[in-house]
Amino acid sequence: MKRLIYLDFAASTPCAPSVVDAMLPFFCDRFGNASSLAHSLGAEASDAVDRARAQAAALVGSSPHEIVWTSCATEANNLALQGVARAHARTSRNKGHLITAMHEHKSVLATCRALSQDGFEVTFLPPDASGGVTVEMVEEALREETILVSIMAANNELGTVNDFRGIGSLCRRRGIAFHCDGTQWVGKMPLDLTSDPIDLLTWSGHKIYGPKGVGALFLRSGPPPIRLEPLLRGGGHERGLRSGSLNVPGIIGFGEACRICREEMAEEAPRLARLRDRLEDMLVSAIPGAVVHGQVSQRLPHISSVTFPIDPGRNLVQELTRIACSSGSACDSNDLSPSHVLRSIGLSPGAARNTLRLSLGRPTTEEEIDLAAEHLIEVVRGARSS
Ligand code: PMP
Repeated sequence: MKRLIYLDFAASTPCAPSVVDAMLPFFCDRFGNASSLAHSLGAEASDAVDRARAQAAALVGSSPHEIVWTSCATEANNLALQGVARAHARTSRNKGHLITAMHEHKSVLATCRALSQDGFEVTFLPPDASGGVTVEMVEEALREETILVSIMAANNELGTVNDFRGIGSLCRRRGIAFHCDGTQWVGKMPLDLTSDPIDLLTWSGHKIYGPKGVGALFLRSGPPPIRLEPLLRGGGHERGLRSGSLNVPGIIGFGEACRICREEMAEEAPRLARLRDRLEDMLVSAIPGAVVHGQVSQRLPHISSVTFPIDPGRNLVQELTRIACSSGSACDSNDLSPSHVLRSIGLSPGAARNTLRLSLGRPTTEEEIDLAAEHLIEVVRGARSS
């Protein structure tokens, strides 16, 4: 049987072997609760969590005490948005205004919609046709009562990069908190929170060759300090911001994944960009009418979004028996409606359905790219002539 070529690294990555090695002892032998500091098993778990926190902080240039562990990026996004909004509402007569973009991840969009049902005002900015949000767009939407701007670093379906540093600087000048969903950026591209003007940053273990079920929220300690209302209350873990016993093995794996990304990122990014360009060149030259999205803007090195000129009734992802990839976002794989991201940059429902997200990762080879291109070209040509 022919091997499946995995081109869905933006949906999830395999754990790096050293990540699994680092996690294993913490399941059975060193299983202590990181809060049980009265005995050595607990203290050992707590020390290991501290090391992981330092590794996570080093990847993004923050202080370890500014990292809050969560169960995933979805939770970190919820905590950031609901946390800032509800903390503001506690002490203010008006609820306040938030700004985000229409092509954000659903964990941001759904949270913003829930907040707007609760009386907060939310502006959903349309990205430009190349999939980006600019400083000017945000500046125009700012109001006297704006309390939070949430714009992702890079889009998970298109790979396009927003001017998050410019937007962060604008927010800083105006004294408005800036949250950035860095789930697709962190671990792939450099970030240095000592100078990058982000107040809250989300990322996730399973996008960076770490385990699923663990995420992180960076929360700048100030000045001025950002007030956050917790989603989970209980024993006061994570400085009271996220109660619940820590997922020690997951956190250890997350830390190790961050350590590896920090070491490998600088070489990995240009290698993946070269392979992505090779794939796109092969597809575009063999399939007249194939369109690559976001090519004019700055893009992540590992994500390619391509629309193919075939009958929209076809289900291309399923016809690709040798390639594992996504149509739109994998989080939407059970949702047959056209991707909200592709619609937000102006694609028709039919074109959105004929779009694939091909995302490359650390194990991707040139040979795999050539085989994948060959298979895709064959399937698309078949779909056109039948
Ligand atoms: N934000 C972005 C940009 C993502 O790509 C994803 C994963 N698709 C998430 C948030 C949610 O990540 P998690 O699976 O860790 O909840």
